[in-house]
Amino acid sequence: MIRIERGPEPTSLPPEREHRLSAARRALADGEAQVFEGHGVAKAALYEAQHGKCAYCEMVQQRTAQPVEHFRPKARVTQEPRYVTSTTGYWWLAWTWTNLYFSCTTCNSPARKGNHFALELGSTPLTPEQLPPSEERPLFIDPAAKDEDPIAHIVFVQAKRGHWIPRPRRGSKRGSYTIDKLGLDRTELVTLYRNHVERTVQPCLDDVRAALQRDVPREVHHAWSRCLRRLFHPKAPFHALSYDVLDGLVPTDVRIRWRLDLPRPWNLSRP
Ligand SMILES: [Zn+2]
Repeated sequence: MIRIERGPEPTSLPPEREHRLSAARRALADGEAQVFEGHGVAKAALYEAQHGKCAYCEMVQQRTAQPVEHFRPKARVTQEPRYVTSTTGYWWLAWTWTNLYFSCTTCNSPARKGNHFALELGSTPLTPEQLPPSEERPLFIDPAAKDEDPIAHIVFVQAKRGHWIPRPRRGSKRGSYTIDKLGLDRTELVTLYRNHVERTVQPCLDDVRAALQRDVPREVHHAWSRCLRRLFHPKAPFHALSYDVLDGLVPTDVRIRWRLDLPRPWNLSRP
């Protein structure tokens, strides 16, 4: 998972929000079911802002079949006994730009993120119509939230047979909850991670190592820059994984000696 810059909300969303939210308030007052439709007008803008990738697992997606995901669940929140949770859904945020993401159907499925939305202990859930963050501190990493750094919470570590597995970085509880609930270590993703490392990251690293062997600074810097440009191209998948593979396989002392910077991927892939 990496940081996401949503950019400005699409002009089609505010009018949708205005009349849908009025209807949701009336339904609540009348004791009727609220209707959660219309947020799909934000989908094209989210898809573009996220370069066609799921906000959570970073897999490249087709736009058509994937849902618009509500970071704070709109209709209800799954109660989790070990955690603090809101007792209602965040219905008033169902058409709020900063609560919407484009995500894959698997990450957004009931068995994964679904309506899960636990809060840190000592945190206070928002009350209806209150805007985040207030006193609420979600355990889920919110990739577009101000000052959020997903890489500070999740690290990909090398495992057996060429596998790379996401783990909480330095025991991060938020990293742990996010990996667990989204299933970022699910089998099909772990296979895709391995393929990405073998087919895309390793050839880049081989070029860098060959340049290091030739001991020509200009060639080393060119190979490293090519590597970063390719792996952190906005449309390339699995930036966080690529970052950790480079961090793990090009030792810090080598990077310091050759002055090879490894910035956070989103600092490179901004337009
Ligand atoms: Zn996903």
